[in-house]
Amino acid sequence: MSQRKSHEDFSCSEELIANESNSSKEKESLKASVSPEDLSSQKEISNSAEGFEGFEGFGFSTNLVKTLAEKGYKEPSPIQKAAFPELMLGRDLVGQAQTGTGKTAAFALPLLERLEDNHGKPQVLVLAPTRELAMQVADSFRAYAAGHPHLKVLAVYGGADFRSQITSLRRGVDVVVGTPGRVMDHMRQGTFNTSGLRSLVLDEADEMLRMGFIDDVEWILEQLPKDRQMILFSATMPSEIRRLSKRYLHEPAEITIRTTKQSPRLIRQRFITLHSSRKIEALKRVLEAVSDEGVIIFARTKVITISLAESLEAAGHDVAVLNGDVPQTQRERTVERLRKGKVNILVATDVAARGLDVERIGLVINYDIPSDSEAYIHRIGRTGRAGRNGEAILFVNPRERRFVSSLERAVGQQMEPMDIPNNTEVNKSRLDRLHKRLTTVAMEERKNKEETELLQNLLTRLTTELSLSHEQMALASLSLAIGPESLLLEADESWVDESNNRNRRNSRQESQFVSSRRSERSSRVMEEDMERFRVEVGHRDRVKPGNLVGAIANESGLKGRMIGRIQIFESYSLIDLPKGMPKDIFECLKRLKVMNKELRIQRSP
Ligand code: AMP
Repeated sequence: MSQRKSHEDFSCSEELIANESNSSKEKESLKASVSPEDLSSQKEISNSAEGFEGFEGFGFSTNLVKTLAEKGYKEPSPIQKAAFPELMLGRDLVGQAQTGTGKTAAFALPLLERLEDNHGKPQVLVLAPTRELAMQVADSFRAYAAGHPHLKVLAVYGGADFRSQITSLRRGVDVVVGTPGRVMDHMRQGTFNTSGLRSLVLDEADEMLRMGFIDDVEWILEQLPKDRQMILFSATMPSEIRRLSKRYLHEPAEITIRTTKQSPRLIRQRFITLHSSRKIEALKRVLEAVSDEGVIIFARTKVITISLAESLEAAGHDVAVLNGDVPQTQRERTVERLRKGKVNILVATDVAARGLDVERIGLVINYDIPSDSEAYIHRIGRTGRAGRNGEAILFVNPRERRFVSSLERAVGQQMEPMDIPNNTEVNKSRLDRLHKRLTTVAMEERKNKEETELLQNLLTRLTTELSLSHEQMALASLSLAIGPESLLLEADESWVDESNNRNRRNSRQESQFVSSRRSERSSRVMEEDMERFRVEVGHRDRVKPGNLVGAIANESGLKGRMIGRIQIFESYSLIDLPKGMPKDIFECLKRLKVMNKELRIQRSP
């Protein structure tokens, strides 16, 4: 977890819609429950008196309260306030909330606090739809458990080394966070002992449904001890998830957090797919065609911020840099210049731009992809401030394309694919800007009256001397103002067209590939719509169909049930996938590792 959010961030962006069981009676029972006997004997209780502040009063150990303070958490977010009392009592819970609301801590903190010492077997299982989320949740657990260095948290997901996961499970783990396919494999092989599980969390349940993992999830649920706490978090509540919740949760508390103000709704989000070697040229075009107000460009490293700023300056832009090497006083001056419009473009690293609040930022460009969705949310939050509209544009190379959907999920908003602006668009924008500047100058009175008179005389004299019309004279003045360089961009744009056309082709293929192949009548894809592929893992690698389905579904965006017949042989396997796999997905699958071996997928003759 890389970023910190202040309480203010949470409180103005979220609204607690309903907390079914927040009655005063239950608050009483919480107070009653906050006694040392209820928690592990070694845990010291931070506070159980009236008038709690921050994280005190929920029955958390002082150790945990200290860790949270060190992380910079001042106040629980709305979802945490509602969830902590329920979960500390061991109740089941259904929460409707998105990423960014603090939902991970909402379940992780109480579950950590309720762990039994020296239990010997895994006590908590969290199921998450993707390996990115699984890793993120596992990292959060580790961070919150900083006061308990002996506590073991393990993330298990497809595409990662199976054997090392088995070794870790054997050595003893307290919390397992995993994707359904891989968790199921470990359960089937007997390498994950679930008999000691006390709590289960389904995180982003609707996403697991969307990705076709719901059957796997139900299979897992059926195998687990019946007497356990269960928590379900989902951004939306489709009927399948409601059914699941009714069937497996016992009188759950229900919490709904609706993101209101400050959500990225005012921010138009787009992405451009392009080869890394073209990024700088594309950036210059985007800056010309899109921006009018302040711009922040996010780059991954200090070195990139500097080289970007140099290239943009050379192209005639006013640029300032904000990175970790810039001393504090200079940073403040830079932000002030940006605020006043003295400089229009800021090139920054994530750390340096943290918390930056400048109203006139109209565009955020993610020149380099952010490290995770949290960083993305933070970056785009620099625009659309104070109720204004904002725009965010993300550059991704073909291999990074797959991150777009996880970012969409995190912000709960679709991102539109965008073309690299061609010469016509750039030129239209140049002319528009000239129009605007001319309008401003024409409407303003020059301050120096005497000078104005002299200039007028000069124009009159010239028109007579050279027998020019007023229009011809005005044009000559414009040329003088524009300078010797051509106003219009005439650079080679064949690469722009090529890149844009390729992207359009790919996204057409991709949407056909991912969605329209499903037969109306059966959930299985029809045989004739399938193509056979060979992958270089087989029995000798101990691969099981579930490993292949999980890993491929995760990587390609295909639903698990759209993956057809799988035949496993000694050294390789054959797998049927829908026809028309886009090239970039194919490339990713080639390098994808299952059972620690690259799939090296190829079409089977
Ligand atoms: P999540 O919704 O779980 O993805 O969390 C969003 C972000 O908020 C993460 O960076 C957390 O570390 C952070 N966070 C969670 N709870 C708090 C809190 N009470 N105060 C400040 N930051 C928090």
